[in-house]
Amino acid sequence: MQIHDLIGIGFGPSNISLAITLEEKKQEGYDINSFFIEKQPSFAWHANMMLDNTHMQISFLKDLATMRNPSSHFTFINYLHQKQRLQDFINLKTFFPSRHEFNDYLAWAASHFNDRCAYGEEVLEVLPEKRNDEVTLLRVRSRDANGMIRERLGRNLIVSVGGVPSIPECFRPLKGDVRVFHSNSYLREIERHKDAKRIAVVGAGQSAAEIFMDLHNRPSAPHVDLIMRARAIKPSDDSPFVNEIFNADFTDFVFSRSERDRAALLEEFWHTNYAAPDLVLIEQIFNAFYQQKVTGDARHRFLRRHEVVSVQALPEEGIQLLLRDLNAGHEHCATYDAIVLATGYRRDYHKSLLNPLLPYMNNFSVDRNYRLKSTPNFRPAVFLQGACESSHGLSDTLLSVTAVRTNEIGHALLSEVNQPEIKQTGTPIRAVASR
Ligand SMILES: Cc1cc2nc3c(=O)[nH]c(=O)nc-3n(C[C@H](O)[C@H](O)[C@H](O)COP(=O)(O)OP(=O)(O)OC[C@H]3O[C@@H](n4cnc5c(N)ncnc54)[C@H](O)[C@@H]3O)c2cc1C
Repeated sequence: MQIHDLIGIGFGPSNISLAITLEEKKQEGYDINSFFIEKQPSFAWHANMMLDNTHMQISFLKDLATMRNPSSHFTFINYLHQKQRLQDFINLKTFFPSRHEFNDYLAWAASHFNDRCAYGEEVLEVLPEKRNDEVTLLRVRSRDANGMIRERLGRNLIVSVGGVPSIPECFRPLKGDVRVFHSNSYLREIERHKDAKRIAVVGAGQSAAEIFMDLHNRPSAPHVDLIMRARAIKPSDDSPFVNEIFNADFTDFVFSRSERDRAALLEEFWHTNYAAPDLVLIEQIFNAFYQQKVTGDARHRFLRRHEVVSVQALPEEGIQLLLRDLNAGHEHCATYDAIVLATGYRRDYHKSLLNPLLPYMNNFSVDRNYRLKSTPNFRPAVFLQGACESSHGLSDTLLSVTAVRTNEIGHALLSEVNQPEIKQTGTPIRAVASR
């Protein structure tokens, strides 16, 4: 069996950016044999939230490459140039392309690496391969679309699997009930509920707001209850001084703080990323409710300061929620044909994939270069992307630092992999040991 220098789990923006970084390292004389495994049948970026009229919440300059190497082939600007849309894009006068366009950019970038990515395979677990008392390799087990189990060996690993839907406790007993679904499967699942008349959207963030407006604009004109604990929908603060927390060098600052300070920083700036839709979207929602007042047609309800107490699946009538009005202090029931949980994501999936490695791990904590700390008899370097918010800051789950982060990981990886250290030109190359 071929042994790869690096196996990557997931081929979303984080690992595509890493593939680009490693590709560009070839020009410096390095050649890492990397291979990626992606469970989707082809590249897609949050496909079930690819709603019309949605835009990036980050500047296109924070693409897969620019912040690391502005002259890269893989910048968003070069993508526009290749697609012959650069001057038209300039005339849009925006930093925030549509999500459709950014998805196309990411798919274009990913397509350069089709020879080193297996699509349609879900990684199930990662096992240690021991020689004597040392773990020298990792065995990555995956299942393809036909149910066949595949195994690959790697000297190092990078886990960039994104988030998994966070489902509130009271909804868990309804797992498998198609009438309750998370925003990450919204477009697929709402198709089944085309005729639904009563829909609840639970959540106060960007996804909840986008889904509310999507349902509002549907020709089937469902009645939608927007349910949230918050008193108001607050906009994301992307003013320039606040936005500095998403600068790449802010990661050093966050990482160097004590655990207590880091937690305080996360709390202070939590609203820049969570439960904070774009202002324009909030204004659209407000306008939708205002127009109801004008027409007297109370189609939707804004159930702010409401909490779901319990959930009951009724065989015929729908899903019944027991709701507590946190202002009035009383409870009431409401019944829906479908419920969308726009309740965010957990970032702990790597722990189950890497569970067989647990005896060698230091409580899954990472160093500055996103490498999991391990026991001395564990040789492979295992890196995480997108699961280090508590140690590296709020930018970790976003695209903000992706290009720079993959450079840091690339350097750390190169210091692990036995490389010919001489360029063809004869210039000595030194990998930066960045531990
Ligand atoms: C709707 C939506 C919009 C967003 N918009 C923005 C934005 O505008 N700006 C911004 O900065 N951030 C945004 N984000 C945050 C988002 O996390 C990042 O944009 C980005 O997707 C992170 O890339 P990633 O590769 O780390 O994770 P992901 O994009 O989630 O990619 C992870 C990949 O791993 C694959 N995978 C998971 N498990 C396995 C497995 N077991 N085996 C094999 N493959 C697996 C998944 O299929 C997926 O392709 C948005 C998130 C959502 C949900």
